Amino acid sequence: MDRAAYAERIVEVLSGEHGAKVGYPIGLCEVEVIRTEQVGSGLLRITFGGADLAGFHSYVPDEHVRLIFPDEEGVLRLPEKDGLSLSWGKPRPVSREYTVRHFSAEDRELSIDFAIHPGGLASEWALKVVPGTKIHIAGPPGGVVVPKTYDKYLLAGDITALPAIARWLEWLPREASGWAFIEVSGPDEEIPLDPPAGVEVRWVHRGAAEPGTSDRFEKAVRTVEVSAGERVYVWLAGEAGVLKPLRRWVRTDLGVDPKDYLIAGYWKRGVADYDRDE
Ligand SMILES: Cc1cc2nc3c(=O)[nH]c(=O)nc-3n(C[C@H](O)[C@H](O)[C@H](O)COP(=O)(O)OP(=O)(O)OC[C@H]3O[C@@H](n4cnc5c(N)ncnc54)[C@H](O)[C@@H]3O)c2cc1C
Repeated sequence: MDRAAYAERIVEVLSGEHGAKVGYPIGLCEVEVIRTEQVGSGLLRITFGGADLAGFHSYVPDEHVRLIFPDEEGVLRLPEKDGLSLSWGKPRPVSREYTVRHFSAEDRELSIDFAIHPGGLASEWALKVVPGTKIHIAGPPGGVVVPKTYDKYLLAGDITALPAIARWLEWLPREASGWAFIEVSGPDEEIPLDPPAGVEVRWVHRGAAEPGTSDRFEKAVRTVEVSAGERVYVWLAGEAGVLKPLRRWVRTDLGVDPKDYLIAGYWKRGVADYDRDE
């Protein structure tokens, strides 16, 4: 699909009935850290800039990029351009996926919100960076485009999904309605959001439990009731094990068609660089 074709495809999906993944040409750019700022006590926002961002593009809340890191020996391997895509080769370059929280083509600035946790390659990198640090970023490879005409939107996830949920809430039309559930450890991790008036935001406090071990989030999301005849779009992301029972609930209890939901394990407890496609 070339650049004009994907733009047309986005418009086509937006004016259709169901969500669909639209792939974009996948770029690779080298960017530089411009500034860092704390967003609530759990997220660290890093804003990147640089001339390479002239070719970057971003359209929908669900988009992510891959940050590329040197391997254990300190060797940086990069994917290679392959037409409109990238070829990752073997051994595969070391990378981690993050949501495009904000992109301004005008300012050539890209922001990513990192959930800080112990023992993570990307998380430790984010904690240490200073303005001027350079890194390669691949993507986004596309995103799920969702029509703005559903009766209800159910958005839910943990702090790793919060950047995408924040972008979703800004992106939805102001007359949209539904629910957003976000699991955080406590009030310190809550952040200001900009939801449409009809979208109820519920922060679910996990308390002292480790991330990915509490069922409070699952219980909270399950309280949602969709009225007969209402069309709902469901977007869930977070720890893979926590999402498992909710996946069943969405399909079976809510009876949502696969074209009307996206449920994505963003990380898995005990697994570094979790690959949701494995
Ligand atoms: C499409 C997509 C978009 C994503 N967007 C974001 C985003 O915007 N912001 C964000 O913070 N994350 C996001 N994630 C999740 C992020 O990619 C993972 O959390 C990733 O594992 C972090 O890499 P790391 O190098 O810090 O940890 P890894 O080296 O991958 O993992 C090391 C250890 O830490 C554990 N771990 C990983 N993440 C967490 C966590 N959040 N809390 C506690 N323990 C954890 C792992 O289970 C493992 O035991 C996204 C994932 C996907 C697939």
